[in-house]
Amino acid sequence: MKKHNFSAGPCILPQEVLQKASEAIINFNNDNLSLIEISHRSKPFVNVMEKARSLALELLGLEGKGYQALFLQGGASTQFLMSAYNLLETKAAYLNTGTWSDKAIKEAKLFGEIVEVASSKDKNFTYIPKDYTIPSDADYFHCTSNNTIFGTQMKHFPKTNVPVVCDMSSDIFSRQLDFSKFDLIYAGAQKNMGPAGATLVVVKEETLGKVSRTIPSMLNYQVHISKDSMFNTPPVFPVYVSMLTLEWLKNLGGIAAIEKINEQKAALLYGEIDRNPLFNGVVATEDRSHMNATFTLATDELKDTFDTMWKEAGVNGLNGHRSVGGYRASMYNALPLESVQVLVDVMQQLEKRA
Ligand SMILES: *Cc1c(COP(=O)(O)O)cnc(C)c1O
Repeated sequence: MKKHNFSAGPCILPQEVLQKASEAIINFNNDNLSLIEISHRSKPFVNVMEKARSLALELLGLEGKGYQALFLQGGASTQFLMSAYNLLETKAAYLNTGTWSDKAIKEAKLFGEIVEVASSKDKNFTYIPKDYTIPSDADYFHCTSNNTIFGTQMKHFPKTNVPVVCDMSSDIFSRQLDFSKFDLIYAGAQKNMGPAGATLVVVKEETLGKVSRTIPSMLNYQVHISKDSMFNTPPVFPVYVSMLTLEWLKNLGGIAAIEKINEQKAALLYGEIDRNPLFNGVVATEDRSHMNATFTLATDELKDTFDTMWKEAGVNGLNGHRSVGGYRASMYNALPLESVQVLVDVMQQLEKRA
């Protein structure tokens, strides 16, 4: 039986997507060739790329609104510098909500002045700063919608006249937002979309072409747009699996439908964390992530017992990030509600036993 996979990333994908993807490795499109041994310029793969790009825009409600979707390589980590390379002329504003924002800031500093508008470092990134001002002369404002490591999630985005850039790696396609408020969205595929190796970039075209520096081709969004996301050989397998996941999501009813399920999963687990005296939530209640729930045991003495119990129940990937400790239950789109129930049952059994 498949394990209940709470891994933070790479993470769980829908079983039917894995099934279709594995079939395509042997025989894609009934051509008696593998998906990964045909030309990326062949019609069947060009169709895959086109479909993946259009599904991404469709699900985000951005079709016909001046946006382009690209599937690039180098992970979200490359987007930390690529976004700045393409958009930062003199000064940019960054909200620091932890590790990923920190890394984005470090890269952006190579290209101009970075104003850190607020940081939650004072409390080890266990909350989302709320009161801050974005300089109106900034080239853009950058934020991380969901902090995968600490388990915080932005529920509100600031109103600002400057372009908004957002790292949505760990909560893209998980909840409804007005995505047209964002000028650039990027997300590594391996959290909520597909295998590692592809990064989705959604960019409003009018935001581009405004910096004076020369941008190397591979790092230039406009080059990738002009080549329909095929400037060089794209990561064909991750793009194909992402396309299958986006199809699965569309058939399910899109983001509105998955958001409801994600809310149920989060309510179930956080409800138990709050009710059960043996567990404590790590982050401020109003900033709790619906994707990554972080919690600790009230007493370390129960650690070995709890660890044995959840592993025996078929739960995988519950250990917290090495920089935080404790536990982290990642509940990405493909994780069924039943898996969360299994974890909650284990937490209740521990309480009875203790
Ligand atoms: C995982 C993650 C990243 C890093 O992604 P890579 O694809 O490994 O470069 C960046 N930002 C967030 C929010 C993440 O969760």
